[in-house]
Amino acid sequence: MSCVFKEFAEEVDHGLIETIWPYYKPSPLSKCSKPQAVLPSKYHSRYGDDVVLRFKIKTEEEALAFAEAADTLYLDVWEASKDWADVRISKKVLPSFLTLLPSSMQQSHTPVITQLSQAVYESYPAPSSNDYGRHRLGKDMPHDLFFENYQPLSVIYPWLRQLASMFPDHTQLFTIGTSFEGRDIPAIRIGTRANSEDSSDDGPRHTIVITAGSHAREWISTSTAAYLLRSLIHNFDPVHQPLIGKLLSHYDFIFVPVLNPDGYEYTWTTDRLWRKNRQETALPFCRGIDLDRSFPYSWDGDYQRDNPCSESYAGEHPLQAVEAQRLTSWAKNETESKTRVFAAFVDLHSYSQEILYPFSYTCDRKPKNLEDLEEIAIGLAKAFRLTSGHHYGVDSACEGSVMLTTPSKTGKQDKVRTKVEESGGSALDFFYQELSVNYAFQIKLRDTGSHGFLLPKSNIVPTGIEAFNGLMGLGKWLLGNRGIEGYKDLSSDDIWGQEEVIINDVSDLNDSNNDNDVEEDEGTWWRRRRR
Ligand SMILES: [Zn+2]
Repeated sequence: MSCVFKEFAEEVDHGLIETIWPYYKPSPLSKCSKPQAVLPSKYHSRYGDDVVLRFKIKTEEEALAFAEAADTLYLDVWEASKDWADVRISKKVLPSFLTLLPSSMQQSHTPVITQLSQAVYESYPAPSSNDYGRHRLGKDMPHDLFFENYQPLSVIYPWLRQLASMFPDHTQLFTIGTSFEGRDIPAIRIGTRANSEDSSDDGPRHTIVITAGSHAREWISTSTAAYLLRSLIHNFDPVHQPLIGKLLSHYDFIFVPVLNPDGYEYTWTTDRLWRKNRQETALPFCRGIDLDRSFPYSWDGDYQRDNPCSESYAGEHPLQAVEAQRLTSWAKNETESKTRVFAAFVDLHSYSQEILYPFSYTCDRKPKNLEDLEEIAIGLAKAFRLTSGHHYGVDSACEGSVMLTTPSKTGKQDKVRTKVEESGGSALDFFYQELSVNYAFQIKLRDTGSHGFLLPKSNIVPTGIEAFNGLMGLGKWLLGNRGIEGYKDLSSDDIWGQEEVIINDVSDLNDSNNDNDVEEDEGTWWRRRRR
């Protein structure tokens, strides 16, 4: 994508933010014309001449060769989808990598990021631009300034405390435990007391759990969780927001926006692209366990056991990762004590724009309520698309590590698992199978690879809005599924949005892109043509 076109696309997003947030002031300088910032030497020494390349993968043989070559050279595979994989690689190592690949793949790569060190440097907020950090908690500052940029832990913790203290009637801040390095893993509960008119709320509290930040570098997941919880808290107004009122009456929402605080902090202080937690391993120079490979259901760490340096290192045994253990024991304690029954679980990640449902560890086994999972996942993708025009794929979570072969004799496409990305021990499978959470999803947020983990801040609010509309759809679906008055007979369009509203111009969005309107006006389910 040319610089000018990219800038145009970003301007569209800027316009979108300005429609909902009048304080937003995008940079007046054109990125295309401004000189590149001088790169501090520490960035070059850490990221060298690394680039990120996307390889097209068409066959099982190519997938296997790619996986083995990446494994041999200890490369960081950023994302792997059905027909492509993004890999970070040094320019110097690229020729060696190509020699390990079949001839059909020699020309199959395109650049995603051509100068990783510069891109990482530019992904951090400039010290003077982070107004929320400078003026935080000041009464005269608009609250949404928090979403002008990605925020470090030193801002997130007090922001959560402030939210909880401002709305004590329906909000409670707590911790699910401490991380390996001793930081709180914050959680926030949003919900009102049980609704007396609904006897089904007498028992354990029905609860929707939303986690984010399991992988440290996926900043958009944490900012999106923050956007969702802030939107629910601020819009709690049963008279004017009956859907939110109903949801918070019948459900608790529990958000864990930074499941991996040590890793997140490390991405701010040392290495923007850190993925795992910061736990010591058997190798002193290779810290970190991948939280999303560490959960006890179908843990398959044996493959990675000898390699703590791997980005997907699952530890020496299930739940060795401290933060995964904390989440697991908190969740088990809540269900075993009959305090809660988990109605839904959503684990936010990035990137690739996909709504994924169980199972992650295998494609050979179908979940028992596959039809419901598919219906909701398709609905979520529809809500995202109608909100912003961004298309999200829907699939089983196992598919990320599966490549399609050429058609077999039966005419079907055989699927063969590769090792491009190990996928046992996921939070998704654990909540679905071991905690019997019937509606469990992993959502990989923006983008589809233009920036990958280094997603520009201009995406924070739009991604939050599309996820909020998805969450409201999920809420309506759950209310209807429980037979709650006013929601039990909703059609798919009622739940996820209607296709009729077509908006061709960003200027048409002024009144529709407002999460205050979600309940009252189906016109909020707008869409823009895909750009
Ligand atoms: Zn992730």
